[in-house]
Amino acid sequence: MKEFRISEFLSPGNIIKWRYLLWKSQYFPPEKLQLLQWNYLSKILDFCFEHVPYYKRLFQDLGLKRDDIRSMKDITLLPILSKDTVLEKHDEFIPDNLEKCRPITVRTSGTTGSPLELYWDVDVNIFELVCQWRHFSWLGYNLADPFMDIRSFSRHLGQKYRWNWKCRGLEFSSQYINEANINEYADLLRKYKIKFWRGHSSAMNYLCQLLDYADIQDVKPKFIVSVGETLLENQRDYIENWTGALVRDNYGLNEHTALICQCPDRGYHICSEYGLVEIINDNGKPAQPGEEGRIISTGLHNKAFPLLRYDTRDYAVYSDKKCQCGRTLPLIESLTGRADDRLVNANGKVIAGLHNTFKYANGIKLSQIVQKEAGVIDVYVVPINHFDDPLKELLIRVLKNELGNTMVIRIHVVDDIPYRKPGKFKFVVSLLKDKQIV
Ligand SMILES: [Zn+2]
Repeated sequence: MKEFRISEFLSPGNIIKWRYLLWKSQYFPPEKLQLLQWNYLSKILDFCFEHVPYYKRLFQDLGLKRDDIRSMKDITLLPILSKDTVLEKHDEFIPDNLEKCRPITVRTSGTTGSPLELYWDVDVNIFELVCQWRHFSWLGYNLADPFMDIRSFSRHLGQKYRWNWKCRGLEFSSQYINEANINEYADLLRKYKIKFWRGHSSAMNYLCQLLDYADIQDVKPKFIVSVGETLLENQRDYIENWTGALVRDNYGLNEHTALICQCPDRGYHICSEYGLVEIINDNGKPAQPGEEGRIISTGLHNKAFPLLRYDTRDYAVYSDKKCQCGRTLPLIESLTGRADDRLVNANGKVIAGLHNTFKYANGIKLSQIVQKEAGVIDVYVVPINHFDDPLKELLIRVLKNELGNTMVIRIHVVDDIPYRKPGKFKFVVSLLKDKQIV
């Protein structure tokens, strides 16, 4: 959720309403859940037809009337919406009655230079809060429990930490934390009695390493949620082993179109009340169980900047299974990274999921792979202490194993990774032109 304004606490009606519904709807029979979803979708479609210039024109161009979309599957009558189109026609997505939404401005990061500014209406911010609360509650969190929120990048430039009293969040930026001051941060975790961590998995991984090296054992959390970047298996394993706590994943977008939350039984639940999620394979067809596809998402609530069938550029594996936890929210099998996380070798083969190659390299604080041309990658490594030749050779060997011997790999030991933007940390930055990516 975004920063709350004091006025939002003075009207708790919506918080209570969503708290009541969402705790029940996660166990609704599938037909009831679909009906609820369709009701929300109908309302947002009505709104788009009436108030949003981009959609008014799109429907006209397609020769569609509002009544032509009579059920959830009819949404496929609309084309998939790319981020490029949203950037290009940005102002046309703003409704003609924006002020009524009491909008909050939200910025999404664009590692390769395409930041997007959009709006959330005020009710959406409250809805987001309750959705996140529900997920954290699956792991044992109670509203008003203090928690640590750690990011790889500073949200409050120059501030080592911030205590956000409104949500009782202790906010850290991992770039300010190091071996010399780790005891001060441990003291803060003790002072605020933190038992719940949320944040970027790379930042939490780094924090665990520093605490481990300093042999500080008494600040371990009871539960952890990874948000804002891909949760890598090697990081999950390391954090879980060191803390003894469960790490669960939380996938969402600032575009407010989809939320996927991992339960204690490891099921990735699509929050149907939040957004409509389609998994579309590379042939443009709905993915079959076990098949990977792009996450195409439709936000069901945000009138201030509505996005229908938005291409997230993230990949997931479709599933038709039920979860052991008993929640009826549909599942995906796994999240498999971003389109922009994929590398292309000299033969044009696309390779994803390289994160595991770094699991043997324990001395690395932060790393980033940048590709500017097919067949060549630059690997930037920020070491914790030093990065010696055997470690470098090991890294090249495991990377070649994944990428093939023809891939040119250039390792650079640096003080800071080159592509830093506010928001998400990017492990892989692909600067290849879209046409070079299959
Ligand atoms: Zn579950």
